[in-house]
Amino acid sequence: MKNNNFKNIPFGSPVFDKKTYSLIKKVIDSKKLVHGPMIVEFEKKFSILTKSKFCLGVSSCTMGMHMIYYHLGIQKGDEVLVPAQTHVATAMAVEAVGAKPIFIDSNYENGNINLFEIESKITNKTKAISVVHYLGFPVDMKPIMRIAKKYKLFVLEDCALSLGSKYENIHTGLIGDAGVFSFYPVKHITTSEGGMIITKHKKLYKSLKLLRGFGVDKDYDKRKIPGQYNTLTKGLNGRMSEIEAAMGISQLNNFNFFLKRRSNNYTFLQNKFQKLKNISSLNTNVNYKFFWSPYCYALILNKKLIKYRNKIMLSLNNQGVGTSIYYPKPVPCMKYFKNKYKIKSKFNNAMRFSNNAVMLPIAQHVSKKDISYIASKVEDVIKKFS
Ligand SMILES: *Cc1c(COP(=O)(O)O)cnc(C)c1O
Repeated sequence: MKNNNFKNIPFGSPVFDKKTYSLIKKVIDSKKLVHGPMIVEFEKKFSILTKSKFCLGVSSCTMGMHMIYYHLGIQKGDEVLVPAQTHVATAMAVEAVGAKPIFIDSNYENGNINLFEIESKITNKTKAISVVHYLGFPVDMKPIMRIAKKYKLFVLEDCALSLGSKYENIHTGLIGDAGVFSFYPVKHITTSEGGMIITKHKKLYKSLKLLRGFGVDKDYDKRKIPGQYNTLTKGLNGRMSEIEAAMGISQLNNFNFFLKRRSNNYTFLQNKFQKLKNISSLNTNVNYKFFWSPYCYALILNKKLIKYRNKIMLSLNNQGVGTSIYYPKPVPCMKYFKNKYKIKSKFNNAMRFSNNAVMLPIAQHVSKKDISYIASKVEDVIKKFS
């Protein structure tokens, strides 16, 4: 069966340049594995890319969100609005401080939080709204900020999939009070594990910086007597290591290329699939308001094909086209949340993305040849089941 035309294109696979190896070697040779120059440089580079004055490298996106809720003093008895269609992490960060996530369905068009459902879910216990830029497409932030102002709520942007995406020319993460990115291997860039908090608030940045390292008063290299320090506030350990930061630096050096490739691959599939029957995709009306750094291609099956979704995915996988699902269930339908909160509501729009869609790879590891291969295999399989 195997011939020269056989391909193996994973859904996600990180791309590294030569400099990655030398930077990581530099860290190892220096023996400075934490508190070193790499994290400083990575944060600086991230600040240039996002135009955020304040950037804080952390150990993961989940940890970054946990740190923020912890800092805000959100706790048992409090509520945080969370989109139903997201990674469980968005809700787990709320759970981590003992508060209750209140789930909101997606809109039908692009999977982002349904703006019209938010206000009816606000109570006197609500402390914050979290939004997720689903597959990187920016949430319409203006109405969110209007509601947040009216009810005095903190706005946390989960930017795990939105590096490079902007809303009204402002990088995602800077419209709300804070944004948190993920550098898990399949995201836009990777540091193996890792994340970044960005914010426009200096005070918040300073507090989170303390919180990131046990609330300790003196930076490691500012201690006159080694080992001598005090702790000023409550704290956690949310630090990013030097090896992770070094990887991040080399990833950011290539970000323009990554973004271009993602966008080109996305547009290629979009054009190819225009004439294809029985499928659709996100309705992403890209205009001056929304600049999209796409994460993947959502192939949404229409009624006739839904029952064949697993067969379609397996057929693509067997032909070397990797696929994924984002996300496998709306979070409130995941066992833990369903049982704990006895959730009965249906999240029909969120469910549509979980049940009817096949996510296709478009990232930097997908070459021009690969993307036409993907397009032709998808066309074949959709025609076959139509
Ligand atoms: C991947 C992902 C996360 C989790 O990121 P980690 O860095 O692994 O903690 C959170 N939210 C969303 C929307 C994600 O896709």
